[in-house]
Amino acid sequence: MTEPLFGVYGASGCGRGIMPLAREWVLKHGILLNRLVFIDDGQDVSKVVNGHSVLTYAEFLASDASERRVSIAIANSRIREKIALQLQRDHILAWSVQASNCVIMDDVDVGEGSILSPFVTLTSNIRIGKYFQANLYSYVEHDCIIGDFVTFAPSVKCNGNVHIEDHVYVGTGAMIKQGTPDQPLIIGRGAVIGMGAVVTKSVPAGVTVVGNPARIFVKS
Ligand code: UDP
Repeated sequence: MTEPLFGVYGASGCGRGIMPLAREWVLKHGILLNRLVFIDDGQDVSKVVNGHSVLTYAEFLASDASERRVSIAIANSRIREKIALQLQRDHILAWSVQASNCVIMDDVDVGEGSILSPFVTLTSNIRIGKYFQANLYSYVEHDCIIGDFVTFAPSVKCNGNVHIEDHVYVGTGAMIKQGTPDQPLIIGRGAVIGMGAVVTKSVPAGVTVVGNPARIFVKS
């Protein structure tokens, strides 16, 4: 009988950090480890990484499988979106993966294809779109609304009543001040929050902010 096949898309830094979480899920569900592979289309990638076969996407599609599920472990949100569309076209299921020590409180909705790394905390009454990635030790506080393809590097502190639009990237250790129910702090679509930034007010779409307090970064 053909077995299901599970893929972690991306065998670089992000993918190698996610694979152990994917492996835990697969083992818990009684699936053989050889049914869990990396998918990577890069030219210089080895055929085996950390004990798992690396297939190209074409090879993954061509493999015998009763069903296919893929977790997209690539930090670049535009690439995640491109691959997500490709998976949808090929009728491959989005696979959400999370560490067993994540803390998720009350009334939290997280869309398909999310990745929650170890020590991530999502408190209560939170809405998150699809393909969210929260790296190690990041948290999202109460009443936040987060769009699609948003990426948190490690240790992001996102306080309450913050709205984050699609394709925002938040760098390591950045802190976002809390908003209020009638005046949420808004991070606009596609904005980049630099590493260690302290964001004290709303950020327009598409800009990069850095520093404490965070300001729009202008190249000299
Ligand atoms: N990649 C891919 N198909 C794509 C784009 C990227 O297989 O369309 C792979 C790429 O070969 C690389 C990985 O995804 O191995 C992305 O790695 P990178 O170090 O750029 O990012 P990270 O792992 O930090 O997200």
